[in-house]
Amino acid sequence: QCTMVCPTGALGEHDQGETAIDWFEDPEIKTVVAFAPAARVTVGDAFGMDPGANTEGQMVTAIKRLGADYVCDINWAADVTIMEEGTEFIERLSSGGQLPMMTSCCSGWVNYVEKHHPEFRQNLSTTRSPQGIFGALAKTWFAREHGLDPEKLRFISIMPCTAKKDEAARPQLSRNGMPDTDLVLTVREFARLLFQHGIRLDRLPSTPFDSPFMSQNTGAGAIFGTTGGVMEAALRTVYRKVNGRELDSVDFIPVRGMEAVKEAKVDLGKFGSVKVAVVHGLRNAEKVLSDIDSGRADYKFLEVMACPGGCIDGGGTIRIKNSYLSRSKARMASIYKIDQHRKLRRSHENPDVIRLYDQYLGEPGSEVAHELLHTVYRNRKKDPPTETITEIWKKVKLG
Ligand code: SF4
Repeated sequence: QCTMVCPTGALGEHDQGETAIDWFEDPEIKTVVAFAPAARVTVGDAFGMDPGANTEGQMVTAIKRLGADYVCDINWAADVTIMEEGTEFIERLSSGGQLPMMTSCCSGWVNYVEKHHPEFRQNLSTTRSPQGIFGALAKTWFAREHGLDPEKLRFISIMPCTAKKDEAARPQLSRNGMPDTDLVLTVREFARLLFQHGIRLDRLPSTPFDSPFMSQNTGAGAIFGTTGGVMEAALRTVYRKVNGRELDSVDFIPVRGMEAVKEAKVDLGKFGSVKVAVVHGLRNAEKVLSDIDSGRADYKFLEVMACPGGCIDGGGTIRIKNSYLSRSKARMASIYKIDQHRKLRRSHENPDVIRLYDQYLGEPGSEVAHELLHTVYRNRKKDPPTETITEIWKKVKLG
């Protein structure tokens, strides 16, 4: 039995699958579809596959059968997010910028800060989420490399999240009146679309991604799908950039697992021993914000995911009652398995990310990188009232 509630009060789920089909069938339009790290380990539940099954290759086949022109991987953009966010963190440490820096790839969390705690919006990393980065580069670099007209190109993302629809609608994430992300399908909408078109994901062979140069990714990009993943991915790269050598172990265990708040210290050379924390679920995040406000917490870097567990249990995934914990664990284990089996596990090692900077952006944090890959946040406290956190959680519990 599925629930349709996002704990962040994001735009409700409204099925846009047929819009995607219209674009696939329009000979004037070229479509680029990419899916999130958590999408591949959650959609299999709709087809009776093993909990946490990694359906990456079958998803590519299915999207191609629906008629997409190009299928790429958002994990690649997650590696780009790390390059920008890692650089931004080091700059904040060097120049006395606003700390703790807070991750901003969770759109539910960004909405929450803007609406309920705008006093913390300077703490949010200005780096866009992987979806926001992919969209901007699809309409610029990708279009240029493939000789496509950006006005006739549509980027569709498949996400575990209803709040990503809000993110795609942000005016800050558009250029020349065109949104960078044209359409967001939740994992549930995607599964429904496959059923409507008679496509059984569990019976499909695997197909590789279409465009290696916006798909090849490292294990660091893959772990974005679970709580602690963004922090671990960022530390792998920040440590290397600051200390000139890799972390002793690529697995940064203290930020893994389902504990509500996870803390760790990392030696960042000239910046000393830096305290970081990871929190998931808005109730827990609220408590951490209060600790920061009162000076009880002295973190320099904080990862927040609005959904308990992170995107593996996002409001747009397949939710099956009475199996929440076992499914979350299986999805999380699958994400870490993907990481473990990647030949490259650090974002700064990704040859296609290196190529992006060599051929297009210059270096992380460059002017053009800022123009395309960063954003700004608004104080939305005075926007029409939204649900209180208690109301939101009541709905989630009853959902
Ligand atoms: Fe969306 Fe993931 Fe944030 Fe949940 S944790 S609101 S699924 S981005």
